[in-house]
Amino acid sequence: MMLGLLLARAGVPVTVLEKHGDFLRDFRGDTVHPSTLQILDEIGLLAKFEQLPQHKVQHLSGIVGGREQQVIDFRGLKPFDYLALAPQWDFLELLASEGRRYSHFDLRMRHAATGLIGENGRTLGIRAEAVGRTYELRADLVVACDGRHSTLREAAGMQAREFGAPMDALWFRMPRKDSDPEDTFGIVDCGHIMVLLNRDDYWQTAYVVPKGGDTLLRSKPIGVFQDSVARLAPFLADRKSALESWERVSTLQVQVDRLGCWHRPGLLLIGDAAHAMSPIGGVGINLAIQDAVAAANALAGPLLAGGPVDETVLAQVQGRREWPTRVVQAVQLAIQNRVISRVLEQSGGSPRVPFWLRALLHFRTIRHIPARLFGYGLRREHVRPPLTKI
Ligand SMILES: Cc1cc2nc3c(=O)[nH]c(=O)nc-3n(C[C@H](O)[C@H](O)[C@H](O)COP(=O)(O)OP(=O)(O)OC[C@H]3O[C@@H](n4cnc5c(N)ncnc54)[C@H](O)[C@@H]3O)c2cc1C
Repeated sequence: MMLGLLLARAGVPVTVLEKHGDFLRDFRGDTVHPSTLQILDEIGLLAKFEQLPQHKVQHLSGIVGGREQQVIDFRGLKPFDYLALAPQWDFLELLASEGRRYSHFDLRMRHAATGLIGENGRTLGIRAEAVGRTYELRADLVVACDGRHSTLREAAGMQAREFGAPMDALWFRMPRKDSDPEDTFGIVDCGHIMVLLNRDDYWQTAYVVPKGGDTLLRSKPIGVFQDSVARLAPFLADRKSALESWERVSTLQVQVDRLGCWHRPGLLLIGDAAHAMSPIGGVGINLAIQDAVAAANALAGPLLAGGPVDETVLAQVQGRREWPTRVVQAVQLAIQNRVISRVLEQSGGSPRVPFWLRALLHFRTIRHIPARLFGYGLRREHVRPPLTKI
């Protein structure tokens, strides 16, 4: 959606296909990091974004073995010293409505891309399906931004390298009361990790389980899970029955992967379709947006010129975005393997933050390091002004 908007803004006729009829799915991430806020500011959408319902988070702490430890601190960072938790459907609707201002932005809801059309190894367009009819759409360039289970990636016969993950996450809501803690925070205790995102009237909660562990958990009565949640966060004990059945709990299968090559002649993949991120740091949305900005900057000129886009331009997009993606994935994998799997395997005793780390995290400048890495990312993208006046 962001790439479509940026290209339309630059004067490029663009068609965006979305297979669902709306963006209203509970099962999506909500973190809008400073890097994305900056992009919204650059395209003049920040004021409208700020009118959306949202919760601003300036620091994140962990309760490790019952002891609170601040870990990430945005305070003092410029130009944005917070991350916003905003419903992804509102955010997408904002981008969509901005795109609709341009007559050459064609957003087709309930249209699913089903395959690629091509000749001599070059992608020339897509096959699509919409309310019982199928059709072909030809284009100078196809950009696959169809998520971690990308249909177009499969159609192109491209396979991502899997890096594995020791965990999955159970994703659910718990009601929130005014007397609850204000912060967004994680709880780490022997064998368990739970993250609570403050969404004002509810807690968006992620309960981390060993990979595939949800099957065993779901074979037990929901009461067992309710008790476990209440043990980790005692202030939720009085409303644990809000989790009335397993239907209220979704499983996020954590996946970390990356394509070796993000393009083919006439086809570019970005976002989760090119690299699914671990949920650590909540960066998937922000990296996808950065990819979109880099792609729009590189592609607007060649697309405006008309005709097929040279593959070297597509390689430039990967060249800009692969390195930041690799570094963030490497940090995520280190945290997954060295911290999360050890906590999940622990069957006795209380986890502790080592003294030296606690001493370091005492300093805000140290807590700024993860805030910069996850909040702003590496190699920040900036929106180039449109080449033509629309
Ligand atoms: C439960 C959950 C929680 C998450 N939490 C966070 C978080 O807090 N913060 C964060 O940054 N990231 C989070 N993520 C990851 C984040 O959602 C993704 O990294 C990010 O949305 C990737 O953006 P994308 O545009 O590449 O793909 P997506 O957001 O997956 O968008 C792909 C879109 O393409 C559509 N589509 C798919 N196939 C087709 C098709 N064939 N034809 C037409 N349309 C199609 C889909 O309906 C979807 O709207 C979470 C993911 C999940 C599943």
